[in-house]
Amino acid sequence: MNRKTLIAAVLGLALLAAVPLMTSNSYYIHMVGTIMIYAILLYGLDIVVGYTGQVSLGHAGLFGVGSYTAGVLFMKLGAPLWVIIPASIAVTAAFGALLALPALRVTGPYLAMVTLAFGTIIQILINEMTFLTEGPLGITIPKPSIAGYKLDEHDFYWLTFALMVISLVVVDRILRSQLGRAFEALRGSPVASDCMGVSVYRYKVYAFVISAGFAGLAGCLYAYSEQYISPNTYNFELTVLFLLAVIMGGRKTRSGALLGAAIIVILPKLLDDLELFRMVATVLAALITVGGVVGIFKKITTPKAMAIPVVGSIALAGFAFWLESITDWRLSIFGLMILFVVYYLQNGIVGFVRALFHVRKPAPEFIGKAGEDHGKDAISVAASAGGAEAGGDLLIAKGVLMQFGGLKAINEVDLRIQRGTIHGLIGPNGSGKSTMMNVLTGIYVPTAGSIDFAGRSVVGRTSSDIALSGIARTFQNVQLFGEMTALQNVQVGLHHTFNSNIVDVALHTPRYLREQASAIERGMGLLRFVGLADLATEEARNLPYGKQRLLEIARALALDPQLLLLDEPAAGLTAPDIKELVTIIRKIRDHGITVILIEHHMDVVMSMCDTVSVLDFGQKIAEGKPADVQADEKVIEAYLGGTAA
Ligand code: ADP
Ligand code: MG
Repeated sequence: MNRKTLIAAVLGLALLAAVPLMTSNSYYIHMVGTIMIYAILLYGLDIVVGYTGQVSLGHAGLFGVGSYTAGVLFMKLGAPLWVIIPASIAVTAAFGALLALPALRVTGPYLAMVTLAFGTIIQILINEMTFLTEGPLGITIPKPSIAGYKLDEHDFYWLTFALMVISLVVVDRILRSQLGRAFEALRGSPVASDCMGVSVYRYKVYAFVISAGFAGLAGCLYAYSEQYISPNTYNFELTVLFLLAVIMGGRKTRSGALLGAAIIVILPKLLDDLELFRMVATVLAALITVGGVVGIFKKITTPKAMAIPVVGSIALAGFAFWLESITDWRLSIFGLMILFVVYYLQNGIVGFVRALFHVRKPAPEFIGKAGEDHGKDAISVAASAGGAEAGGDLLIAKGVLMQFGGLKAINEVDLRIQRGTIHGLIGPNGSGKSTMMNVLTGIYVPTAGSIDFAGRSVVGRTSSDIALSGIARTFQNVQLFGEMTALQNVQVGLHHTFNSNIVDVALHTPRYLREQASAIERGMGLLRFVGLADLATEEARNLPYGKQRLLEIARALALDPQLLLLDEPAAGLTAPDIKELVTIIRKIRDHGITVILIEHHMDVVMSMCDTVSVLDFGQKIAEGKPADVQADEKVIEAYLGGTAA
């Protein structure tokens, strides 16, 4: 975080803390308190929605679990606050796991449906389990006491404030740690995550559980805040409102969550009061018009793009003054607002404001500290630790068959990859080279055949498990984590170097700080190794194509692999870039890392490879020294008869 945002955040929070001093109207104090409670939930929901990119329609249900854990513990056992808060978090996190473990096996609309069903079931359970929850009658809870002192409205406000700030800090720390990077990575490219040893499924579940913990805390505070809970609160509308708040406020920002919370608390009240609605509609129209004009002037947007929102918001303001009663129109106006956000504010309000003022991502605080050239030390080789003498076989594949329906993409192929060599894999387009890599890295399970890597079978293991055992790769179609910086991309590859858990991350224990510092240093070293140190803080999607390919190599090296698979690393590169690439690949081999190289540039293959295997229509048609292979008749025929060379 840079200094300006830090000052703004501290000022904003101080203002929030001072609310009870500025008004004695308990209606407003309660309202702002509710906003903070929702914000706690939204911080958590944003981890799932904004970072991992999953949809949850179950968060109102989880919120309910938190409330009812508090309510039941108080009513049945008279439990004190310091028991109820952790219990609500733990119980709700457990429910989150219960939901996530089966639900996250599916994605997209199916996930939405499963989470929706979960929310509904929770509501029904609360209703029906009267022996525990009092059913539709609900539970009454007084404001809590701490050490015999009963909190009044103001005290409870500050308790909520304190817990909101703690949640803010903890969520922020989680998202800046290896956990947050794992969450973001699995959204950016699930397949690359798995191949970097970051199990997509495991971290999706983890994100859900953490998110549920925050929903539990929010639910618990909500119970105390309302002093009465009943099943009706935790309904479908609330769950939709939560989602809307994350999207409207702006995903991947904490200020967006707070803003979103304010909107969903205030919006329903706003649509109850015609005078207020007229005022806000007018202000909104003015803001959008001014914002649009500034946007056009700054060339962020075009007159054409702004026409509908400007005309629309002015029309809405006019409509507000024409209306005589708002009650009939509430839902329609609400729906219009949702449409507006979905079409025009896809990065939320905070995202839009950032774009308007050109606010960039936090500046690099660490680059200066990264020091001298660590390029050499950055690559540490697990291979030498293996103890096996150089020259032995690192990977042995026998009779590998990969069938897609009737197509044999790989047909009974044997491969022996010698340690410490660069092994070329060539063949016309569609001959099965990439499929071979996918089989070696566990993306596909071969239909038949065996693959042994460093003395252990690969077949049937997960991609992340195989990656952690020492096979790293790049992809023919670059698979970077687009919204993450170059350094963060490499740090995802360094995920395996972290032993610290969520408690270490939340408390910034020495162990975590040590691991974090070394991940920055090694990450920068690897970037320097491929010549990208200057671009460390650039988002991967903004890098030129050639640099993206180099970044993928740096990320793969972060895994400390024994075997590196490169799938057409020179494709789309300019001649000078290819020269640089060749130097880098040679250096990698000199570090003792074995390389399998798929490449169409014959000069690259011929000059670098120790051995070359040639595939054609899924079959191995030749193998040997580059020069011999090049002279082989079958190979010449395959290339001339085929489509490309
Ligand atoms: P190469 O990398 O040598 O150009 P590929 O390994 O990508 O070739 O593809 C080999 C053949 O397998 C192609 O005919 C391709 O269409 C087919 N193939 C690859 N993956 C799949 C898949 N997931 N489903 C069906 N067919 C596939
Ligand atoms: Mg390919």
